[in-house]
Formats: sequence, C-alpha cells, structure tokens
Amino acid sequence: MTALIIAVGSELLTPHKTDTNSLFLTEQLNEIGITVVQKMVVGDDAERLAMALRYGMSAARLVVITGGLGPTDDDVTRDVVASVLRRPPEIDSEIVEVIRARFASRGVVMPEVNRRQAEVPNGAEVIENPNGTAPGLWMVEVPATVVLLPGPPRELRPMFKQVVKERLYGVMGGRRVYRRIVRTTGQSESYVDERVKSLYRRWCTAPMPIETTILSSLGSIDLHLSLVSVSEVEAQATLDAAVYELRSELGLLVVSTDGRSLPTVVGDLLVERLATVSVAESCTGGLITTRLTDTPGSSQYVRGGWAVYSNEAKIDLLAVDPDLIRVHGAVSEQVAEAMAHGAQEKLDVDFALGVTGLAGPSGGTSEKPVGTVCIALVGRTGSLRVRRLVLPGDRERVRFQASQAALDLLRRALLRIAPS
Ligand code: AMP
Ligand code: MG
Repeated sequence: MTALIIAVGSELLTPHKTDTNSLFLTEQLNEIGITVVQKMVVGDDAERLAMALRYGMSAARLVVITGGLGPTDDDVTRDVVASVLRRPPEIDSEIVEVIRARFASRGVVMPEVNRRQAEVPNGAEVIENPNGTAPGLWMVEVPATVVLLPGPPRELRPMFKQVVKERLYGVMGGRRVYRRIVRTTGQSESYVDERVKSLYRRWCTAPMPIETTILSSLGSIDLHLSLVSVSEVEAQATLDAAVYELRSELGLLVVSTDGRSLPTVVGDLLVERLATVSVAESCTGGLITTRLTDTPGSSQYVRGGWAVYSNEAKIDLLAVDPDLIRVHGAVSEQVAEAMAHGAQEKLDVDFALGVTGLAGPSGGTSEKPVGTVCIALVGRTGSLRVRRLVLPGDRERVRFQASQAALDLLRRALLRIAPS
C-alpha cells in the first residue's frame, strides 16, 4: 500500500519551522508496511491545498494530511477537503459539547470560533483528540482513503499511535515491515553496488521479495534490506539468509549487520580479545582517540593517545628518530610506523596506531599530494601493517577518512585473532 503525506501550514514554508510530522508519520506507516511515495508541504492556501489533495488521491492509496485544523480563518484543511470530496460539512453537536467541556475544565468559556472544529464533512468518521480541540477525520473514498490529523505533534502522535495505526494495520491485514542494515567500509558505493547487484536482482523476484537500498555516508556504505510480511518468523529467517549471503559476497568489507558503527565494532572486538590500544595521531589531531572513546566503556581498552602535530612532539613524546623525519619526511610510512612503535611502548598496549598525513588544503607536492596519509599498526611483536593512501576531498573529509582507514586496519587485524 502506498501513502502520500501533505503537511499544511504557511509557517512550514519559512526557514524557521520544519515539517517534522511527516518524518514521524513515515516511520509509523513503514512499521505497518505502508510505503510513503511522496510528501508535500502546502501553505494555508485553499486553492493550492485542493490541487495537492486531487493530485495526492491520484498518486497513492492513502493520503494523510496534517495541520490546518485549527479554529481560525487561516486553517482551511477541513473546508477544502469537504469541498474537494463533495462532502458538505455539518456541525456535530457532540463534538461541540466535547470542546466546550474541554474549555470549561480550564474555567474558560468556549470561543465561538471553535465551533468550526466541530464541522464534520458528510460521512466522515471522527477520531477523538484527547490532547486538543481538533478531532481527526477519516474518509474512505475511491481511489484513496483520506485521513486528517491535527498539526501539533503532541496531538498528532498519540492520535496516530492509539487509533489510526490500529485501523491501518487492520486494513493491511496484519502485515509489517522488517529491516536490516549491513554496514560496510573501505570501498566506494559503485564497487559495493556492483558486487551485490545479482543478489538484489534475485531477491526482488523471490517469493518473499526483499527491497534494497544503498545509502552512502562519509566513510560508510550501508545496505538497507526490508520486506513486508504477516509472519515475523518467516521475515526474520528470510532476512537472516539474505544477510548471510551479503556477508559471503562482501567478506571483510562488512563492518556490522546490527547498525553498530566502526569504532563500536572495534571496541567490541578489543573487549572480546582482552586487548588494549593506544593511538599516535598527527593529521587527525586526536579524532581517532575521540571516536574510540565516544563509546561508553571504552576505558576497558583505550589506554591513551597523543596528538603529535610538530616534529618536536613526535621526537620528544614518542621517541621518533629525527633522522627518519629528515630522510623520509614527516608524512611517510617510516614515521607513521615509528609513531606507532612509540605509542605501543610508552603505554605497553597490545595494539598501537600511528597516523601522519597531509590534510591540506596547502602543502601538497607532486610526490606527496594533499590527501596523502600514512597509517601504521603495530602489535607487541612488531609492525603488523603499514599503508599509504591518497584520500580525496577537503580537509575535513581527509581527516575523517584517515581515521576510518586506521580504525578499519585495526578491525581487520583483530578479526584474524581468535576471541579470548
Ligand atoms: P495547525 O494544526 O495548522 O493549527 O498547527 C498547529 C501547530 O502545530 C503549528 O503552529 C505548528 O507549530 C505545529 N505544526 C503543524 N504542522 C506541523 C508539522 N508538519 N510538523 C511540525 N509541527 C507542525
Ligand atoms: Mg496552521
């Protein structure tokens, strides 16, 4: 089933107010297997709202309208819907009494304008609003059902959860959406997409079809799987099998299948192996240590870190040999490795990372362009991995991707060790 959401309110067309109702509604509708195919924001304008409603009913089976149900002249939703659907509004005296009682309970006489909120388009079902004066309205039409909900989130949310969702769930015959996120790092969106394409193709025509989306953010490519089912057991089993296939196809590229971030995954691996880590950072300036320590409980495995920005700091704090810097330059595999060795020895840890690079925007040469980053990982028995990368993007992207690559190096090394 498809839905289209119309958020009504001129304030939503200013830079000061965001339409958050549609985010809540989308999440809730998705949970019961309804896909939101389009959203619209319309000002308090009868003609534009009428156009939006006509379009909405032609584009989706369910049209949810929020806002514009207040008592004042600028609230046009009820009137417009009544007129477009040719359902002449009538005052519902029961609703008038409910509204009157609401005001009376606060010791206030109901203003006459509030009578408008008791107008019900002919044949519409009324949805009670325990948190405000405007009731919701439900109208079954061909080709689309139209639902009107109040704009204030504190009224809309409980009304949707307590009444509307149950009704829609009934209409959907007990179907729900089940989801998984497979997070990867270290490769581009197009690379990952290419690798999983044939699986996707098979899944979308399977008896229980899986819908797939690829979402790229800085440092991660996430594969979202979802399916609609009446049976939770069948849905979970189908998704388990799909995640298993993705893992087989993507191997070590898969960071997590439960939404965990890379630093959290690294932390969990360190805990499982009873291992400790320290970090020596130049171009990332402490970002890796920050990301590792963002996770509660990281004191179990993070011993400490250094932001060694100058040559003097690398030499004085981590005993990096000045000759290495003179011969190879501060941005070199050799210096990254020496930094990591220093960090390992100073804190007597199982693993240490050393990162040095050129985040830019200036300082690049043809031999070492901006974005050049050297990463070293050492363990108790010596050097484990050294990598040199040239990362694209501005300073912020280079720094973040450098931290991501360093954490991923550690993750891959930890996966080669059996848990304690
Ligand atoms: P209304 O039902 O148009 O009288 O809206 C009452 C109040 O609800 C507005 O002043 C907004 O603060 C809030 N509101 C209306 N629509 C939305 C929306 N789509 N998202 C978030 N808040 C909203
Ligand atoms: Mg409004």
